[in-house]
Amino acid sequence: MHEFFQTATMKQQLKIAIQKSGRLYDGSMRLLRDCGIRVENGYDQLKATATNFPVEILLLRNSDIPQYVEEGVAHLGIVGENLVVEKGRKVRVVQRLGFSRCRLSLAVPRGTNYQSLKDLQGKKIATSYPATVREVLKTAGIEAELHKISGSVEIAPNIGLADAIVDLVSSGNTLFKNGLREVETLLKSEACLVANASLEAPQAELLEELRFRIRSVLAARKSKYILLNAPDEQLPAIFELLPGMKSPTVLPLATKGWSSVHSVIGEEDFWEIIGQLKQCGAEGILVAPIEKMVV
Ligand code: AMP
Repeated sequence: MHEFFQTATMKQQLKIAIQKSGRLYDGSMRLLRDCGIRVENGYDQLKATATNFPVEILLLRNSDIPQYVEEGVAHLGIVGENLVVEKGRKVRVVQRLGFSRCRLSLAVPRGTNYQSLKDLQGKKIATSYPATVREVLKTAGIEAELHKISGSVEIAPNIGLADAIVDLVSSGNTLFKNGLREVETLLKSEACLVANASLEAPQAELLEELRFRIRSVLAARKSKYILLNAPDEQLPAIFELLPGMKSPTVLPLATKGWSSVHSVIGEEDFWEIIGQLKQCGAEGILVAPIEKMVV
């Protein structure tokens, strides 16, 4: 263990609040683990201390995390951006984390004729996110009756509680199964790292170290390592397709006139690029995950 970490006192420790149970828990734990933060003594009900990074992980109720971070009980928190908007607490979003992607959407029963937000005038809307919805309605100059429900919002129209709902959606399956049609996206959300607005110097320094690790993990998740063999005359065309981090590595093969090319490609471009590489005569294409990518 690094000497600095060994001698870390409570004052030099970073407290990170994550969701105790629920949708963000697995992604948050996986991210911390991929950042090399190891917890060996397990978790009790509330907190765990890492053995190789001066961090204490606080396991809290998701909806309380923005308040705890604002008040400095935790220096950092991992929450959905939608919750940051809903709670309106003074915390800084310091890093988007690329998991738990969803959208806060307005949905109406499938048979309802809906043209625009104006159709909500005087209607009943059920949601778990009333502050966000109130703000959207206010901006649009619409008055509607809001019903706050904390779960299973999608059943509200069927039981006569509301004319429309505003809820988090990822695949849209839940809305579909409940006979609802998604008609507006009010905001897009993903898990994010939030920080207290005025961290002391030791915590600010640790936050920078953590952000560096997170960026390396996220960059690696978005990329693949690719190796292929290609005829030498096709190399310029292949370099166009695989620019790599600086430029591709090229090694001569034992077969004259052929080379092995090593590079990095984005996960999203993957299938399109593979097709084009094959058209350029690439053979023996191997694609491997990247564990960390120092950016
Ligand atoms: P929950 O565990 O249901 O309290 O949700 C916690 C957070 O996970 C929410 O604040 C959202 O940021 C995110 N989330 C909720 N529902 C979904 C969904 N359907 N897909 C992806 N993320 C979601």
